[in-house]
Amino acid sequence: MRRLQIPCSLSTRTRLIFGVNSVDRVGELARELGAKKVLLVTDPGIVAAGHAERAQRSLKAAGLQIAVFDRARENPTTKCVEDCLAVATAAAIDTIIGLGGGSSMDTAKGCNFLLTNGGRMQDYWGVGKAARPMLPLIALPTTAGTGSECQSAALIVDEATHQKMACLDPKAAARIAILDPGLTLSQPQGVTACTGIDAIAHAVETAVSKKRNPVSAMYSREAFKLCVTSFPEVLLAPANLEARGRMLLGAALSGLAIENSMLGAAHAAANPLTVHYGIVHGQAVGMMLPSVVRFNGADPAARQAYAQLSSGAQIAAHGHEPDGALNALAGRLEVLLNLAGMPPSLAESGVERAGIPALAEEAARQWTAAFNPRPVSKDDFVKLYEAAFEPRSSTVL
Ligand SMILES: [Zn+2]
Repeated sequence: MRRLQIPCSLSTRTRLIFGVNSVDRVGELARELGAKKVLLVTDPGIVAAGHAERAQRSLKAAGLQIAVFDRARENPTTKCVEDCLAVATAAAIDTIIGLGGGSSMDTAKGCNFLLTNGGRMQDYWGVGKAARPMLPLIALPTTAGTGSECQSAALIVDEATHQKMACLDPKAAARIAILDPGLTLSQPQGVTACTGIDAIAHAVETAVSKKRNPVSAMYSREAFKLCVTSFPEVLLAPANLEARGRMLLGAALSGLAIENSMLGAAHAAANPLTVHYGIVHGQAVGMMLPSVVRFNGADPAARQAYAQLSSGAQIAAHGHEPDGALNALAGRLEVLLNLAGMPPSLAESGVERAGIPALAEEAARQWTAAFNPRPVSKDDFVKLYEAAFEPRSSTVL
């Protein structure tokens, strides 16, 4: 491997437990961490699906006291975290469990920052700002997408400025992630589609980011292989537990890749689309991804990494010309977006062309843009948004 000479440090802070019905072990695992009073952070949809009750049953059977915060919301804000903190403080909890999609896990992590280190979420925007140890966290994802269960970042939106703050600290990572494919069966089709595309985008962006290293690249390739082959299956047969399991594992491995190599321009371009047009994260990232892949393909090392990604997932043959492999990758991503029912262009997602310069300016300021393999300026983002305005290939294999 050509990049082996690059020094790297890889931390796996989270113990992964994978298996159907593994949610029923949450009580026993919390006790292993020394829990007596736990806070369960979740959202109303997860309560309605019966997952919260099931987790509570396991926690009760293990003799634990439980406080519940069930008001996590999409793109959690500083206010949401403060509301969660009030419940945690009143119950004097010693362990936190995040049950749900990325939002529940982000809220749980945000609450952990404030409960153990004080202050406001804004104080932790950046890397390693928490001085004191944090409480043990168990993550129980119910979507196959964000990979938050394997990351030390809490993504919290500033209620006043609408800025999405990435608060990273190794202490915030979950001690244990319980990956139970059965929990992902309750996702509505639209959630399966958007979170699945997000997981695929994580694999693609981490595979070429500036911070990538041989081990993170291994996670990216394995995650891509698992997700690209399983994603059409979960869309067409949502009850296929085997395919759901592969997606869940792939999303977690993508999360591990992000933890070690960060993301790139598709995420940088997506965040302003979510803030200003309310486009769901996975859809926004997915719609930008094919043009970002073509843009990054001008970098020879990135083109090579894309070729490895493609050949690993049998989208392109080994030894395929890198240009051919690049086109095959971008084409496959477009097919998957079509399968997922994503609108064919930004124009059809409600974005106004006149808004592109402002979007591009914000995108260029996003933290993730700094990790893109090719430097990406405001003018480059204008071109990327323009490209996403053109209807993509309508081919569906
Ligand atoms: Zn993402």
